[in-house]
Amino acid sequence: MAKIEVRNLTYSYRNSDNVLKRVFFDVQEGHFVSIIGHNGSGKSTIAKLLIGLLNPAEGTITIDGVELNEKTAKTIRQKVALVFQNPDNQFIGATVEDDIAFGLENRLIEHDKMQSIIEEFATKVGMKNFLKEEPTNLSGGQKQRVAIAGVLALSPEILILDEATSMLDPKGKNEIKNIIKELRKTNPNLTILSITHDIEEAYLSDEVIIIENGEVAATGNPKEIFKDFELLSKHHLDVPFTLKIQDELRQKGLEINNGDIDSILEELCPLK
Ligand code: ADP
Repeated sequence: MAKIEVRNLTYSYRNSDNVLKRVFFDVQEGHFVSIIGHNGSGKSTIAKLLIGLLNPAEGTITIDGVELNEKTAKTIRQKVALVFQNPDNQFIGATVEDDIAFGLENRLIEHDKMQSIIEEFATKVGMKNFLKEEPTNLSGGQKQRVAIAGVLALSPEILILDEATSMLDPKGKNEIKNIIKELRKTNPNLTILSITHDIEEAYLSDEVIIIENGEVAATGNPKEIFKDFELLSKHHLDVPFTLKIQDELRQKGLEINNGDIDSILEELCPLK
């Protein structure tokens, strides 16, 4: 049984045309899946449907074998966390500490347990030394790290990142990517669904879903998807930088195994 099963999902806003049309996909537990596609293709609408903010016009979303509907939404929502694009819109607390505490208070976690949970998750995202800081003193990347700490503190089973790095500078993007990398090691059961424009991030996921015009245009292993230049050009998607480097190196007679830029550098450095 897949962790998330999406079947025939169809949705329209008010009286407009369907923005999602018969979308089908599965996400396995512990997998890191990227949803990519152009602006307006329906990716965020999928995220909003997955956490029950919107109701499907047709089709079903099943989480852990339980269909999401009015009766099950409350229980399912406790399993699913969503981090949005804009770091400023989701910082609610007066300080980092208050912000992480917010979700815990909503879950009625006892006060004496709360401080250690806050510290544990602030540490996880490298923000332990900023607990008393106000949002105005933080970079976008730091605010997103706090947002991630806040949702992780609620022990979700599914983490949805909706363009969570798109408003960040390269340093901020890297910080978040490293947290995701670390989470995958330390929390192998956490299922991560990342809606992203970042082809490099998508290349490193377990599976990629390409959405175009509200429909699933392709799904598969990123190593296969990003090798298919015809498919990429058909959907106006770029080739990941890491793949371009590997290709250039291959042409120069250096075969480097697939991986992220750090693994490529590690393989190259001993050759210096
Ligand atoms: P993406 O995340 O891929 O950029 P969205 O899911 O945000 O796409 O949007 C899909 C389509 O739905 C777009 O055409 C967008 O204009 C439309 N849309 C999104 N939100 C609303 C809304 N609240 N009301 C009406 N139309 C919307």
